[in-house]
Amino acid sequence: MYTSLKTAALTTAILAMVAPVMADEVNVYSSRQPGLVKPLFDAFTSETGIKVNVSFLKKGMVEKLKAEGKRSPADLLMTTDISRLNGVVEAGVTQAVASDTLSANIPAQFRDPNGQWFGLTSRARVVYASKDRVKDGEVTTYEDLADPKWKGRICIRSGTNAYNLALTSAMIAHHGEAGAKFWLEGLKANLARKPSGNDRAQIKAVFAGVCDISIGNTYYMKKMLDDPDQLAWANSVNIVFPTFADGGTHVNLSGMALTRAAKNKDSAIKLMEWLSSGAAQEIYAETNGEYPIKPGTEPSALVAGWGTFTADTKPLIEIAKLRGASLKLVEIVNFDE
Ligand code: FE
Repeated sequence: MYTSLKTAALTTAILAMVAPVMADEVNVYSSRQPGLVKPLFDAFTSETGIKVNVSFLKKGMVEKLKAEGKRSPADLLMTTDISRLNGVVEAGVTQAVASDTLSANIPAQFRDPNGQWFGLTSRARVVYASKDRVKDGEVTTYEDLADPKWKGRICIRSGTNAYNLALTSAMIAHHGEAGAKFWLEGLKANLARKPSGNDRAQIKAVFAGVCDISIGNTYYMKKMLDDPDQLAWANSVNIVFPTFADGGTHVNLSGMALTRAAKNKDSAIKLMEWLSSGAAQEIYAETNGEYPIKPGTEPSALVAGWGTFTADTKPLIEIAKLRGASLKLVEIVNFDE
């Protein structure tokens, strides 16, 4: 009698302790589009019974999280680009997660060394080369894009764009600031026109004969193939994977981080671990034409058809931290003017 009463009391005490963190929902702030993440969240909910509420934020995620502080309803954030992931950490709105599952599923170069953010998919920053005007083997390294042989033949978006800043940061990581400045000046001298528009606008310009090559992220090929108005742009170019002279192809990430304010921490970590599984990464990557990053996973047949490459091994966290230095160089060389 005494024992069972004690057990009952203990059980009640444990339940009281556990109940607040046993919440059956997770609130996500996502800069990734609804069509990309909703199917995954629905699958997670049907497997676990944990509901996922999503707020889609195109811009201003860090500002919102900072303004909300401890009262933020967000448990998890999902966004793209290494410097944005590092930016939320530097803004103090995330917290570290220690998880054997996440460590096993996400290679070390694709997550924060302190567990503050985790990559889920990767994309390469590549050359889109005119099928008619660029010969096989003509594009080799990123460094070579500064060679005068490309004069008047290259289109690229603004140097201050996050993807281009990450590429310039990688150039600094390989060749130092002076080397990267020399490269930016050479690249600028080769541009067919002032930087304007997004990555796809540059490929459209290759299609239109304004330039012979452009620089863009791999997944835009899928987006163009999926859009009848852009199909002809896609079909006018080949994807070529340049490398750094002393390294591999530049990649960037989409990823996630647990917020500092997370009230549904256990459920949020469950969702993070679930998203990191090979199957979830492959679905997520396939929907957007990206690459899953867990060892042993495969990209979709479409993406695999673009060719293979070796990702550069400079740590992405080092590249993220060079963002300020890159922005300074872009301004010094007046890249966009
Ligand atoms: Fe993009």
